[in-house]
Amino acid sequence: MFHSDLTDFFASAALPGTQTIIEAVQTQGMHMQTRQRVVIVGGGFAGLEAAKALAGHGFDITIIDRENHHCFQPLLYQVATAALSPAEIAWPIRSIFRSARDVTVLMADVTGVDPEGRYVAAGARRIPYDKLILATGAGHSYFGHDEWAKHAPGLKRIEDATTIRRNILLGFERAELTEDAKERDALLTYTIIGGGPTGVEMAGAISEIARKTLARDFRRVDPKTSRILLIEAGPRLLPAFPENLSAYTQRALERMGVTVLTNTRVTGIDASGVDTSTGRIESATRIWAAGVGASPAASWIGSEADRAGRAAVTPWLKAPVHDHVFIIGDTAAMKDARGQPVPGIAPAAKQMGRFVANVIKAERDGRAVEPFVYKHSGDLATIGRKAAVVKLGRFELTGFIGWLVWSLAHVYFLIGLRNRLLVALSWLLTYATFQRGARLVTREPRVDGTAIDRQAGSPGEARLPARSNSQPPSSMEAPQARNPMSQ
Ligand SMILES: Cc1cc2nc3c(=O)[nH]c(=O)nc-3n(C[C@H](O)[C@H](O)[C@H](O)COP(=O)(O)OP(=O)(O)OC[C@H]3O[C@@H](n4cnc5c(N)ncnc54)[C@H](O)[C@@H]3O)c2cc1C
Repeated sequence: MFHSDLTDFFASAALPGTQTIIEAVQTQGMHMQTRQRVVIVGGGFAGLEAAKALAGHGFDITIIDRENHHCFQPLLYQVATAALSPAEIAWPIRSIFRSARDVTVLMADVTGVDPEGRYVAAGARRIPYDKLILATGAGHSYFGHDEWAKHAPGLKRIEDATTIRRNILLGFERAELTEDAKERDALLTYTIIGGGPTGVEMAGAISEIARKTLARDFRRVDPKTSRILLIEAGPRLLPAFPENLSAYTQRALERMGVTVLTNTRVTGIDASGVDTSTGRIESATRIWAAGVGASPAASWIGSEADRAGRAAVTPWLKAPVHDHVFIIGDTAAMKDARGQPVPGIAPAAKQMGRFVANVIKAERDGRAVEPFVYKHSGDLATIGRKAAVVKLGRFELTGFIGWLVWSLAHVYFLIGLRNRLLVALSWLLTYATFQRGARLVTREPRVDGTAIDRQAGSPGEARLPARSNSQPPSSMEAPQARNPMSQ
């Protein structure tokens, strides 16, 4: 029986003490009404922070994520390059909220939102809400060339990292196997597209694998002869950092044996290599670190989106036409105080998560809240062992000190003491011995239980076709290789 039915019942009965009971039921009813259902789509940095800030404050919170885990994306490249195992950088979302009885975690792929009906759709399932927080992050953007995705996987999820790890390690294994010199060269050529922090980190780490970790493990090939190419369409690496730090980064990578190709546009990617504005590169392993595109959340609620697909928001991070829908993290197109886009980085996502939790509490309590103000704490990128660039306000750090600051910052932000210790220990071992403990070539399971042995996307691509004189397709649009990670 609902509280209005109970009220009617006692009112009509007009028994002694009825008034008190009616008041009690009404009070209880008001309490029930104020206990709002907050649904958070996405258990990334933004969504988790919002849930943590709302937990224990009188809401029924539901987190929906298509994965069962939260992934610490800043260290994904370490999984992709065999330094860390997936479990060291990912945590089951429900275990994070084990003690929060008001937080329910649902593993489901959200397919749409009905802002009028106030429910989230996950296939045929409907999850109702009073307040909705969309925190679905970003995906890859191939600048209109989605067909490149299967030839050059990007790095966003644990599966991406293990796919890339497999491709990198298979390159060496197959090079050891082949008798064909041309094929061997291509197998030992690693091409990374995009000179932002992820591209720089990947290039540095692959160079360390080739020149240090694997140097003595092969008999028929010398991993040290591998070519590692980092392609950037713009004039310099790490465009969001000051020019001197970009120059330092390029020098450091070149010292590590990486070939840096700036002012070079990628015009085509296929199963055997990459076409660029300066020529063709035969390369068995291609990694995409150039473009980020937001999730489809803007289209779910019929909101405007910017060129990167991020949804327009009000200064309170709300959807412009739906007062009860918040959009945060990489999914939101928000400007900072200087009118620049708030960068797609973890601290910004966390700040937004905390902010909307505060707005939701304030609205319930009848308080006003000032608009969101983003506070930028700095930019960090690692290049490799003993080398990183750090910009914290006016302070700039490079080299070993920079690497130390970068390492401490990342260990500090890891969830849980156990993972902090594990990661710190793994790094210490990698640092001291050059060994990478997670050097596993794993195969993807098929539905029938057998395994797919594939490289860079689709079955059969592992064979390296010797394509030598292909012309770059002239109709392809030139990508703007911009890495927004560090903006
Ligand atoms: C390789 C890499 C390296 C990075 N390095 C750094 C760094 O060093 N420092 C830094 O500050 N930032 C870094 N970033 C950026 C940072 O990770 C992001 O800015 C941050 O993760 C954004 O948080 P978010 O909560 O908006 O999205 P995410 O953390 O991406 O979380 C989104 C969540 O939504 C879920 N989801 C998406 N769609 C659906 C759906 N339809 N249904 C259900 N669930 C869904 C996803 O599974 C995911 O859990 C890096 C990013 C990458 C990819």
